[in-house]
This record gives sequence, C-alpha cells and structure tokens, in this order.
Amino acid sequence: MPGLQRVAVIGAGMAGLACARELGARGADVTIFEKSRGPGGRVATQLSDYGSFDHGAQYFSVHTHGFESHVQRWVDAGVAAPWPGKTIAFDRGRVIDGPIGAERFVGVGGMNAIARHLAEGLELTTETKIVRLTRRAGLWHLHDEAGKLLQISGFDAVVVTAPSPQTATLLHDCTPLAAEIASVTWEPCWTALLALSRPSGIDYSAAFVNDDPILGWMSRDDRKPGRAKVPGVVERWVLHARPRWSRKYIDLAPEAAAHWIARAFSARVGRPATVRSLTGHRWRYATPTRPLKQPFLWDETGRIGVAGDWCGDPRVEGAFVSGLALAEAMLP
Ligand SMILES: Cc1cc2nc3c(=O)[nH]c(=O)nc-3n(C[C@H](O)[C@H](O)[C@H](O)COP(=O)(O)OP(=O)(O)OC[C@H]3O[C@@H](n4cnc5c(N)ncnc54)[C@H](O)[C@@H]3O)c2cc1C
Repeated sequence: MPGLQRVAVIGAGMAGLACARELGARGADVTIFEKSRGPGGRVATQLSDYGSFDHGAQYFSVHTHGFESHVQRWVDAGVAAPWPGKTIAFDRGRVIDGPIGAERFVGVGGMNAIARHLAEGLELTTETKIVRLTRRAGLWHLHDEAGKLLQISGFDAVVVTAPSPQTATLLHDCTPLAAEIASVTWEPCWTALLALSRPSGIDYSAAFVNDDPILGWMSRDDRKPGRAKVPGVVERWVLHARPRWSRKYIDLAPEAAAHWIARAFSARVGRPATVRSLTGHRWRYATPTRPLKQPFLWDETGRIGVAGDWCGDPRVEGAFVSGLALAEAMLP
C-alpha cells in the first residue's frame, strides 16, 4: 500500500509480534509498544524464588500449514519443543487416560521463550501503555499513560492487538470498527501457582478437570522441557480455575483465590498438598467466548488494523495467524 512506511503496533503478544515481524519483512518500519516489562502477553512465564511458572497459555498445538512452518523454525532454533507429558481428563467421575487432542508444544525453559525469540531484532518499547491516539495531517500520534505524546510519533498506520475491550476503549473515536470490536465477550481465569515441598504422588503431567466446580486444569510445570530445578521444591503446578467460578469470584484477593483452587487440587489428588509457595494471578481477559468471524479488521481509510485471538481462533495459533494475516492485508 503506498505511503505505509511507518507502522506502530500496540501489544507484544503473539498477534502483535507476528504482525510486526511480517510488516518488517515486507519493508515497513515498525515500532511495537507494550505496557508490560517484556513481550508475550498471555504467553507468559512468571519467575519466582520457587521456580518459573507458565501462568497463561500452557501449550499450543498446530492446526494449519501456515503455522506449522513457523513452529518448525522455533523448534529448530531451540525455543520450542514438543511436550509429550501424559495428559489425562477427569470427566463425570471417570478418568480418561489416553491421547487427548493434537500434539502439544511448549516454550523451552518457559512459554515466553517463544515471544522473546520473536521479539529479537524488532524495535520494542516496553512499559509503555498507550491510552490515546490522535491523527494530524494523515499521521497517527500515540499518547502514553502520563498523557505525554510519545516522541516516536507520526505513524502512517496503527495496529492494535490488545484484548478487545481494551482495544475498543482505545479506538472508540478513531475508527467505525470500534463497535464491532466491542461486541466480543470474554471469560476470566483465576490461576494458582503452587510449589510443593514433597511429591504429590501424581504420575501424569497434566489433567483437564471437567467435573469440578472450581478446578478446570492442572499441569506440572517443572516437567516441561528446559525448566530449572529449585532446591526445596519438588513439584511446580499451574492450576486454572473454571471460567464460571473465576467470573463469580473475580474480585477475590489473589491469595484467597489461590487458596480455594489449591484446596480443590488437594481434594482431587486425595491428600493435602505440602505447600512451599502459593500465589494467585487473575486474568481478567483470558478467553474470548464469542470471537469475531474474521481473522483481523482493517480500516483502510483510517489506517487502523486490529488483530488477536479474539479475531477468529482463541488460541496461541489463532493469535499468531491473525497478526500475520493482518500484515499481509496491509502490505500485500
Ligand atoms: C490462563 C490462560 C490459559 C491459556 N491456555 C492456552 C493454551 O493452553 N493453549 C493455547 O493455544 N492458548 C491458550 N491461551 C490463550 C492464548 O494465551 C492466547 O490466545 C494468545 O496468547 C493471545 O495472544 P494475543 O497477542 O492475541 O493477545 P495478548 O497475549 O493478550 O497480547 C496483547 C498484548 O497487548 C498488551 N497491551 C494491552 N493494552 C495495551 C496498551 N494500551 N498499550 C500497550 N500494550 C498493551 C498486553 O500487555 C499484551 O502483551 C490461554 C490464555 C490464558 C489467559
């Protein structure tokens, strides 16, 4: 597209990183702005004195050829690897013990290894929350939380990849797309990060828990590839609460939410957990429940694009493919 030289990408999750890389490969000069300290978004790894925990996306799988070639490159670069850990499901009082779903991949050392790899060589400005966009003489200017016009300003186009409620707020007076963006609904997810000082006795690596009112997923983080061992910690578990429970108790303090989820874990395991450390994390926007039916939106007049897992497919793959597709539409 003529005149599309400088592009700002807001958000350094999988969608933003994929879009920025592809735009760069097609000749654009791209700057990413990310409100957190590093890239990854919901592909997140929390570091603690008790070891690392993937508290967002647990793994990803591959359903499209387009994504497969990227995953192969990440595996070749040593930042992603298959996760062969045994995964079972608890369902209506039964244990389903067999292959569940497609092959799973994880980041080596932590899920966010993939995001850090994708961010290499990109111009990434972290700890910068964009709160307002203004347009003058056909160029977009970005304003950060302090109300300051960012020095790096004057973009031909802006791509926003934040979860849709945040994207809609940012874009409400910038593009007619804002109403459609605001129609996407979300579920939250409370997460408990549990370090144990004694073995739990569990022989599987992960479980879908379909028959508990609180616990929905449990996964042994320390069994994933490349996770460092920590003295005094024998197992590290990531426990996700069910969406319904998370919504009902969204305003709990993180410690209280983690406590209830860990209790549900102990009940499932059939013995009290020997807790070395327990913390909670609230994902207010964890999963889009009614994503858009197209992989991105592009307002050619306003030169604003949006991408993310809430456009089409609410998974790591969906976010990545959405970002790529938007870049291809912007610079065919
Ligand atoms: C608990 C949980 C478990 C999950 N498990 C899986 C799984 O097992 N497998 C799977 O495939 N998927 C899973 N997912 C979904 C997966 O994580 C997402 O689909 C994917 O990571 C979304 O990527 P994204 O780039 O669209 O959005 P995000 O990762 O949310 O990225 C958006 C980025 O924008 C930044 N941002 C927001 N507002 C601003 C602003 N104003 N200024 C600057 N930056 C801003 C955010 O900080 C964030 O980094 C899970 C998600 C959660 C929360």
